[in-house]
Amino acid sequence: MIYKKGIINKLKINPLKLKNNLNIFTIDIEEWFHILDIRDDLVRFENWNNLETRVERNTDIILEIFDKYSTKATFFVLGWIAEKIPKLIKKIKNMGHEIASHGYKHELIYEIGIKKFKEDIDKSKKILQDITGQKILGYRGPGFSIKKENLWALKAIAEAGYLYDSTIFPAKRGHGGIEGFYRFPFKIVDT
Ligand SMILES: [Zn+2]
Repeated sequence: MIYKKGIINKLKINPLKLKNNLNIFTIDIEEWFHILDIRDDLVRFENWNNLETRVERNTDIILEIFDKYSTKATFFVLGWIAEKIPKLIKKIKNMGHEIASHGYKHELIYEIGIKKFKEDIDKSKKILQDITGQKILGYRGPGFSIKKENLWALKAIAEAGYLYDSTIFPAKRGHGGIEGFYRFPFKIVDT
C-alpha cells in the first residue's frame, strides 16, 4: 500500500505540518510480562497480579533522565497499569508529560476484533481520565497492530473520542506495520 496523491487505500488524507520540524519522544508504559512474544501460561492475564512488578522503578529512571535534560514526552500507558499504580500516572503527568492510552489489556487489535477492541479503548480512556482529570487525546495499540486488513480500527478510535492514533508503523513489524505507508503525520479527511 503506497501513499499516492492524498489517498491511502480508501482513506483520504491531508498531510500535517508540525511546527519547527518538531520531534516527538514517546514511551509505552507496560510490564515485562506484557511483551507479546512471551507465549507462556505464566504471563496469562489471570496471573498478572501474581507477577513481580518492575514498571514503577523503570519509569522513575526514565523520568529522571527526562528531568535532567528538560525533555518532555508522551507516555502511552496501559490501562491495567494505571488501575494498579495510579500514583505513577499522576507523577508522570505532574512532571509535565502527556498521558495517552496504550489500551487496557495489551491484546493485538486484529486478534480480538472490533467489539472487544472498542471496550478495551473505552475502558483505558476512562481510567486515565479519572486519574489525570484530563481528556485523553492519544492512542497507540499493542504491537503496532493496525495492518491494512484492520484499518477499521481507526474509525473505532475516533468514535471513542481520541484525537489521534500512533499505532501504524510504516514498515514491516513482528505484530503489525504497513509497508510503504505514509511516514509523516496526517489527518484523515474522509473514509
Ligand atoms: Zn505495548
